[in-house]
Amino acid sequence: MAYEFFKVVQKHLEIAAKVVELPQHVADILSQPKNELIVNFPVRMDDGTMRLFKGYRIQHNNIRGPYKGGIRYHQDVHLDDVKALASMMTWKCSLMDIPYGGAKGGVKVDPHKHSKDELMRITRRFTHALGSNIGPEYDIPAPDVGTTAQMMVWMMDSYMNRSDDLAKNAQRGIVTGKTINAGGSQGREQATGQGAVVCVREWAKAQNLDLKGKTAIVQGFGNVGSFASRFLDQLGVKLLATGDHTCYIRNDKGIDVTALFAYARKNGSIKGFDGADVITREEFFKTKADIFIPAALENQIGAQEAQWLDVKMISEGANGPTNPEGDKVLEEKGIVVAPDILANAGGVTVSYFEWIQNKRSEFWELDEVEARLEKRMVRQYAKVMTYANERKIPTRIAAYAVSLENLKLAYEERGIFP
Ligand code: NAD
Repeated sequence: MAYEFFKVVQKHLEIAAKVVELPQHVADILSQPKNELIVNFPVRMDDGTMRLFKGYRIQHNNIRGPYKGGIRYHQDVHLDDVKALASMMTWKCSLMDIPYGGAKGGVKVDPHKHSKDELMRITRRFTHALGSNIGPEYDIPAPDVGTTAQMMVWMMDSYMNRSDDLAKNAQRGIVTGKTINAGGSQGREQATGQGAVVCVREWAKAQNLDLKGKTAIVQGFGNVGSFASRFLDQLGVKLLATGDHTCYIRNDKGIDVTALFAYARKNGSIKGFDGADVITREEFFKTKADIFIPAALENQIGAQEAQWLDVKMISEGANGPTNPEGDKVLEEKGIVVAPDILANAGGVTVSYFEWIQNKRSEFWELDEVEARLEKRMVRQYAKVMTYANERKIPTRIAAYAVSLENLKLAYEERGIFP
């Protein structure tokens, strides 16, 4: 049976709603997205033929600010996942005190099977199909699995070309995660991996643990996984094993992260890297380490994987990597989890900084972006952990509850129109 990601997220909401005594009508509103958009659009392939693609944009909630969330290009994208991911953006932005709501989009396409030109035409036609359903003050996309800064620039350019010349520059904030040259922010590319590692560092600090010489495994070596590995490396943590959609690899002496980073950038995956041995997925999960950063897809840590894992702490770079059965086993084993809506919130946090810079025509230095990100991650990490400890509830539920407290207040103050 297909994994019901949206139901899993709804269940977390239901449990956290009880913790914060959320009024039933607010829980009902938050249990479904406000808008669900599906578009089918034609794209010309390099050989001259035409193919029809299916795209989604789910706008979950905007009571705290414009809809915000990434665009995923993956062959398995479907409505249910996008709804789950859109709602998680609402929880994440509210948890981080960012004035955004939540959204998510996607196109059912395997980006590895298309040329750069085809990907450009897919992106431009998708943006055109979304039309005025997105906007810099209304709904702001960003990169996610399978999409890049370059694709964000194509989205921005396609969207900007809809307006007349006088209004063009004001549209730059239509997407975040752009290249620096096109108006992106310093520090955005690495922000999600960086935030996930801030959680690791805060966890270690809380128990006087020196991270130097400690070990980690990272699943996924794309944007989030590769940068998380780099930040761990900077803290002296050895990367023992990693894996992506092509294979898993291990080196008990520690993988040369700088070399693997450069290799994966050049080749599009870790396959063929000669600084580690190829292992199975099971061997990857069984690798003893201090830290695990899942940074691939949802539903990767079930009961079986949780049994296999021999780690002390998990910082969820990916969205929804642990399923409810996995959660149960991790809890029994006493493994600390920095939950996704907290651990991977560095990306949307710096996206917010990018949007502010675009609005003000400013350009912040990297150290300024990093200092602001650091401050917010540290503060919200402490808030979630304290909330969980005080109430003796799982950290995931605590993160949802902290987020729901803000949303509850927003509905209390504004009421329901009319
Ligand atoms: P990406 O496309 O850059 O990388 C995804 C990685 O996962 C790749 O290395 C890919 O090979 C690997 N992968 C795909 N299928 C796999 C499989 N079946 N088994 C093992 N590995 C597999 O995407 P990303 O932006 O790094 O996103 C990774 C996760 O982080 C997703 O859950 C995404 O929603 C989440 N996330 C991303 C951001 C961001 O800023 N990019 C922000 C928050 C959360």
